[in-house]
Amino acid sequence: MINEAFFYSSRGGHQVRCLLCPHECLLKDGQTGVCRVRRNDGGRLVTDVFGRLSAISIDPVEKKPLYHFYPGRPILSVGSVGCNMRCVFCQNYTISQCYPDEFSRFRDFSPGALIQLAQQTPDNIGLAYTYNEPVTFYEFMLETAMEIRRAGMKNVVVSNGYINPEPLDRILPLIDAFNIDLKAFNETFYRKQTRSKLAPVLKTLQKIACSGTHLEITNLVVPRLNDRPDEFSEMVDWIASELGKHVPLHLSRYFPQYQLTLPPTSGQKLEELYLIARQKLDFVYIGNMGTEDRANTHCPHCGKILIRRDRYDVELSGISASGHCSQCNQLVIPNMGN
Ligand code: SF4
Repeated sequence: MINEAFFYSSRGGHQVRCLLCPHECLLKDGQTGVCRVRRNDGGRLVTDVFGRLSAISIDPVEKKPLYHFYPGRPILSVGSVGCNMRCVFCQNYTISQCYPDEFSRFRDFSPGALIQLAQQTPDNIGLAYTYNEPVTFYEFMLETAMEIRRAGMKNVVVSNGYINPEPLDRILPLIDAFNIDLKAFNETFYRKQTRSKLAPVLKTLQKIACSGTHLEITNLVVPRLNDRPDEFSEMVDWIASELGKHVPLHLSRYFPQYQLTLPPTSGQKLEELYLIARQKLDFVYIGNMGTEDRANTHCPHCGKILIRRDRYDVELSGISASGHCSQCNQLVIPNMGN
């Protein structure tokens, strides 16, 4: 399916400028943008991935990761191909860093067919747009999200946050929860390691937080590239002051992938950064490490363990169905989903 894209302007001589993300690619006839999936087709910007899914799976919502949104529940999850960043350490490069023509295992779905599947999936809370960068399949995500909302289900977006304000404004009211990658707190890192910019990602985070939509953040800790304690501390200060100390931060362990051969992040480094973050933020988690206690949710008021996690096994032993701590009765997780 080839569909006309949203958010572009015609520039004369069959050129178009895509306005979906801050790259704002200027494309001659036949050219494709940085994301590899939006193309100038005779003076019309088209998307080559409408309804073309590279992956579809039922995942625990914790896998997004979202720890404070319907904990313990499954969510139907979909992705396509393409990305508007070029991270040298991409952990999903086989689908994010390829052209649609290079991928041979697409499954085609209309939004309606996907809604049906979401409704038929037992205990499913809705649909997660994830795996590759969902901004690059924006039109399909928007149309599907409208139908998911109409069906009374939840929309979840897992994204790098590299999107222009206007398209974000259009989709924001339809989304129930975001996990946004904040890859570093350093413009040079973003420019060199991801071929993008930090400032627009910070704007996206502020906009989501201001809207009141549920937000969690993931920071992939890469040895030597973004693990300096002083820079990390600045990032945590910014999260606490601009977004709120209640916003959960997931520290994720890097493994060598794609173009980067540095060794995996050490447990010691993750622990060091965890302790820095905990001084300012109520909820900090370590992922991909097997350190169970750093995956548990503690009450920020009395310290009781509210949710125990062992990989994707979730035990809601210390929290009520309404999200209150069973010991001190403070409301900790408003989005329990009960
Ligand atoms: S969405 Fe793709 S084509 Fe559009 S500006 Fe971003 S990278 Fe360029």
